[in-house]
Amino acid sequence: MVPGVKLVIFGKQGAGKGTQCQRLARHYVVPHISTGDMFRAAVKSGSEFGVKAQEFMQTGELVPDDIVIGLVSERLSDLDTRGRGFILDGFPRTAQQAEALAEHLAPDEIDLAIDLEVPTEVVLRRLAGRRVCQDCGTNYGPDNPPKEDDICDVCGGEVIQRRDDTEAAIRRRLELYEKETEPLIAWYLSRDQLVTVDGMGTPDQVTARLIRAVDTRREHRHAR
Ligand code: AMP
Repeated sequence: MVPGVKLVIFGKQGAGKGTQCQRLARHYVVPHISTGDMFRAAVKSGSEFGVKAQEFMQTGELVPDDIVIGLVSERLSDLDTRGRGFILDGFPRTAQQAEALAEHLAPDEIDLAIDLEVPTEVVLRRLAGRRVCQDCGTNYGPDNPPKEDDICDVCGGEVIQRRDDTEAAIRRRLELYEKETEPLIAWYLSRDQLVTVDGMGTPDQVTARLIRAVDTRREHRHAR
């Protein structure tokens, strides 16, 4: 396997995106860039930026485009991402963000955008029981609880329910996903950059499907 890849991962909240992005980042040896994790870290640090982001996050609203685009552009300019690539999780979420990403990368482009597909009723069930490590962001659910209550298996941090996993905020995030983010899936499809991957099954099964989709795309690109 050749390390390095440029991926965008779409999926409703609760589709297993965070977990799968962490696994793909390890597999392809690239940074996992999650805008949600970046905002949560800012909130935790208590910075002015974090206080501002929290106002939007708590209600499930999107943080304004200029703030998010600035943050991601800066991260994509770092040496590691310029050299090896990235897995973008939670970005882009609006048409303006997708255009900014394409501009930032031009004349290069992403290898692939993946739509990790899970039915809404399943994500709603998963979100109700979702918990996350507040230090490293590892996700836990009813089917994969931490080995020791409330303690992260990976880093020993505290495992808590996300503050924005309230019923109203979850509903609002799903609504915004349909309105703002789903049209982007069509946009990447029209550019022949999108594949849909079934997100149902065990985490290992889903990871295997994702790797197959990415490797198939890379083989085709190299064959061209
Ligand atoms: P996530 O962990 O991806 O569900 O993101 C948590 C929250 O962070 C979202 O509900 C938004 O308030 C904010 N957020 C994360 N990524 C973005 C983005 N690309 N654009 C706008 N807001 C974002």
